[in-house]
Order: sequence, then C-alpha cells, then structure tokens
Amino acid sequence: MLVLDLLIVGATLVTGTRGDEIIHDGHLAIEGNRIVSIGRREDIPDGTDAARMLEIPGRLVTAGYVNVHTHAVLSLMRGIAVDMGFAPAYTRGVPHGHDVNEDEAVALARLGALEALSFGSTTMVDSWVHAHATLPAMAELGLRVWSCTRFHDVDFTRVHEGVWVHDPRIGDACIASTIDLLKAHHGGAGGRTNVMLAPHAPDTCSEELLRKVAHLSAETGLNVWTHLSQSRIENDLILKRSGCTPTQLLKRAGLLNDKLIAAHCIFLSEEDIPLIADSGMTVAHVPKGNATGGAMAPTPSLREAGARIALATDNLTQDMTEVMRWALAVARLQTGKVSTEWQPEDVYEMATAAGARALGQEGRIGALAVDALADLVVFDMRKPHLTPLLDPLGTLVHDGCGRDVEHVFVDGRQVVGGGEALLVNAAAIRAEAQAAAEAIWERTAAAHHASLGNRDQV
Ligand SMILES: [Zn+2]
Repeated sequence: MLVLDLLIVGATLVTGTRGDEIIHDGHLAIEGNRIVSIGRREDIPDGTDAARMLEIPGRLVTAGYVNVHTHAVLSLMRGIAVDMGFAPAYTRGVPHGHDVNEDEAVALARLGALEALSFGSTTMVDSWVHAHATLPAMAELGLRVWSCTRFHDVDFTRVHEGVWVHDPRIGDACIASTIDLLKAHHGGAGGRTNVMLAPHAPDTCSEELLRKVAHLSAETGLNVWTHLSQSRIENDLILKRSGCTPTQLLKRAGLLNDKLIAAHCIFLSEEDIPLIADSGMTVAHVPKGNATGGAMAPTPSLREAGARIALATDNLTQDMTEVMRWALAVARLQTGKVSTEWQPEDVYEMATAAGARALGQEGRIGALAVDALADLVVFDMRKPHLTPLLDPLGTLVHDGCGRDVEHVFVDGRQVVGGGEALLVNAAAIRAEAQAAAEAIWERTAAAHHASLGNRDQV
C-alpha cells in the first residue's frame, strides 16, 4: 500500500512549465518534500492512503512563484518612495542602507517575506544590507530564499547626492561578508537558504570589482544578481567612466552568462539586445515597478531575440499574480496588439519556471511535476471576481490577486493556511515592522529637516 504524507484531491491543477496543461478534478500526491504523483482523481493508484487528505474543489493549484528580484527590507518605502524617484538608493529624502540598523532590517525583511509568501511566492531572490541577519529571518517563515548583502565599492552614503566615489576597501568588505554568508547559510535550512553574489549595479561597482565578482562566480558556481540599465544616469555614468553601455561593461567583465540575473534592463541599445539574448542570462522584468517609474524594458524585442525573461516585484507590492498581469498588458501596449506571443501561459512561465532555470533549479522548483519539490500554491477560486471559471490560467492572470491565495506549501510543508502564515506570528511581524518604519522615517525626516511626506525636498 502506498502511504503518502499529503494527498490533494478535487482541485484544478496547473501543470507543466508553461502552465498550459490543466487537470480538472485532479490529484496531487506529496511524500516528504516531493511531488510523487499528479493526475486526475480517477488515476490515484489503488490502495493509496495518506496521512493527510485535502479535498478542495473550487481551488486552483499552481507551482509557487519564483520572484527573482526583491528587496524585502524596502517594504519600508511603501506608499512614499514610488512617487519620489526611480529607485530609493538614488533618491534624496528617503532612508538609505546606512540609515537602517540590523534589528530594523530584520523586522522589515520579515514583513516583505510575509507579504510575498502569503501572496504565493515560495522563492524570493533578495538583496539588501544586513543579509546575514535577514536571510535566516526570512527563511523562518518557511520560504526558499536566495540572498546576498548589497555589494558595491561606491560610497553609498553619497550616491543620492549625485556623488559617486569608489573605494576598493568597501568592495573588499562586501566580498568578505558575502563569503561569511556563504559559509553560514548556503544550503542551510534544509536547502532553503542560498547565497548568490549581488553587485548592486554597474555604476555603483567599479570594473575591477565586477571582474572580481565574475571570478568568484566562476570559482563557486554562484549566481550573480544585479541591476542593469535601470536609469539614464547609470548609462551616462558608464559611458563616461568605461566608454560603453552597462551591458557591454558586464560582458567585458566576464559577467554576461547564464549565471546572471539582471533586473530592469530598461535603457538598452539595439546592440545590447542580442548580447543579452545570446548570453543565456535572465532579465528580471519588473513591469509594475518600472511602469510606476515611467519607463519599461523592451521585453517584446528581448523575447523576439531569444532572451530569457523572469518576473519580479522589486520593492513594490509582493504580488506576482499582479506582476504577471502587468507583464502581459505592458507587452501588448508595447507591441500594440494581442498576439499569440504574449498569452497567460507565457507570463506564468516567466513567474515560475523561468526563475527556477535562472537559479539553476529547473525541474526542482517552478513547475508542478513528478519528482519536483513540493512548492505549491492553492488559490481559492470560489469568488465572484473569479467566476465563471472556464479558463483557469487566463482567469488567474487577468482577474486573480495575492489575496486569493488560501494555502502555500514549501518543501512539502504547509506554511500558509486559510491565507495566514502558519510558522510565525503575523501580527507581531506587522507591529515590529510598523515600529521600525516609523523610527527610520522619523530619523530621516529629522536629518533632512523635513517632515514625512514633504515632497518639495525631492
Ligand atoms: Zn532592485
């Protein structure tokens, strides 16, 4: 007799890396941390028994989202910074990395992780300051996390003032703390905590530091995570400093390869696009965040050239369902049509399997499939805005949202139930993050002799 840990029955299953195989009234069996059987209800092997049976008609089960570019601590910026500048690190009058202490970073990172997990992200790829403390704190919620301290050799206390001064000692300290992080947490928490190399951006890292990162990545096999052509300021600085585009600079430094996950990729030259496509790197597309900032990656051209694209929330609402919808709508705005190239299954793949592939985790996460790790999300579709449910994936992408998530499983363990995080005290996380945010913004306002929300200072 086959005895399972969990048998989910009666839900609609979105399977395959593109989510284009739909199984109605299905079954999904989990043993330990893996999916061992998936199919229709009538295909459950005779004699199967399960320690726990979840009979859930009216629900949709998908792979957990792989959110490839986040700064969980920057939930701090909610409601304010998005209306002030293109990114907090470059904006005056907002808190910066050196303004946030370790306890505050942990409180805010846990809030970002709580939001992302509750909304269906089972993997976050995250970087900011105090990663040695935020990585284990985020993983405590049950998430899978790739993390790194934000590293750079620019003096980040001056960038928002428009001053870029590079100091190799800063870069060396960042590399040393990343190696410490690697030793302490890579492959930890049962394989859920992982480390990558996160040079902040071409303009905040010297070419020498970028070369060191490329060397370290080749030596360790670690992913490299960065921002790329996020602003015209970055492009202009690199042209002046290195005489090329940021993409060409990364290629010259040895970073343009399949280990690289680069966010934004907005201000690309025509020559940059084939370089990105041919390199095997992954573009971390942030459609909602970039639309809010008034600029957008040329995703239709990138995709047509063969570039890999995965989706991310960056520091905005950690809702990947919403991000799928934005990716689709924005591509249609850019191409001026509805076409077979940009359909719900395309953005679902970008939100799941493409992120898994970028992390070298293809087949392990990012798809509901036999032998994959049991990272999955259950959406409650028994709601007016999701009825009638005729095309499940189309309905999820166009009409669903993070608040429709009912259950989340990571590594076969249930971490969200009835929409609530199960391993932590969510009310305490919210209270601690609120207190931390108020303290940080108060200090920032005092430092700038301006009251909270005084946007005349920008
Ligand atoms: Zn970012």
